[in-house]
Amino acid sequence: MSGTLFIVATPIGNLEDMSYRAVRILSEVDLIACEDTRQTGVLLKHYGIQARSLTSFFEHNEIKKTAEVLDRLKRGEMVAVVSDAGTPTISDPAFRLVREARQGGFTVVTIPGPSAAIAALSISGLPTDSFVFEGFLPVKKGRQSRWKALQHEDRTIILYESPHRLLRMLDEARTYVGERPTVVARELTKKFEEIVHGTPDELIDHFTKRPPKGEFVVLIAGKSYAAKLEKAAIDLTLEVKFDK
Ligand code: SAM
Repeated sequence: MSGTLFIVATPIGNLEDMSYRAVRILSEVDLIACEDTRQTGVLLKHYGIQARSLTSFFEHNEIKKTAEVLDRLKRGEMVAVVSDAGTPTISDPAFRLVREARQGGFTVVTIPGPSAAIAALSISGLPTDSFVFEGFLPVKKGRQSRWKALQHEDRTIILYESPHRLLRMLDEARTYVGERPTVVARELTKKFEEIVHGTPDELIDHFTKRPPKGEFVVLIAGKSYAAKLEKAAIDLTLEVKFDK
């Protein structure tokens, strides 16, 4: 019998956002590889899941743990991977494990569910037909070149950012992509969920008055969509003027 690897999405805040299938799979597998066993412990307790066995699987032990999980799969076991929140592998560990499990001929199954990027996009009011997920920009080296590449991006841009770098990110957005429609989605699915729309300038003003706390997704309109909105606003101004 060949082992199976399940990539299981978990809530990004609200514990009710767990699928029935995710609960069942976590109850049935031989091993759950978790980014943080304590964090996953809270989720398992909430759902009364008696895990057979748990192991930690995070960025800094990923190489060693990938080998261990592959060994378990070779023994024909079922292994689930969960991260602290959302979909594993999306700005989270386990990409390497998925690649190697596939290369090793094991079955890899998705148990889909929340991801902050898609959750934020779906309520942003920015075009959803085409978008680019940038995740976290590099903190130092390579950050400026990512911004330069994004200057010409026509798709809606989705970024993750930590609270202490949010103002810096908005300032960079103002410098590199200009005053395009921008949305900041904060603490999605949690008590202090907040969606703020504006230009980077307006958002800097907002978050200077209310210092950023919690988790953030930043979404920026693509270049042509922003230009289209700007042209429509100018046309409307001219129309109003002409009518007078
Ligand atoms: N794997 C996760 C996913 O599928 O969304 C992302 C993990 S990444 C390490 C964590 C980042 O995701 C946070 O710093 C924040 O940018 C974003 N994030 C996660 N939960 C969020 C939430 N409830 N509201 C807003 N952003 C969130």
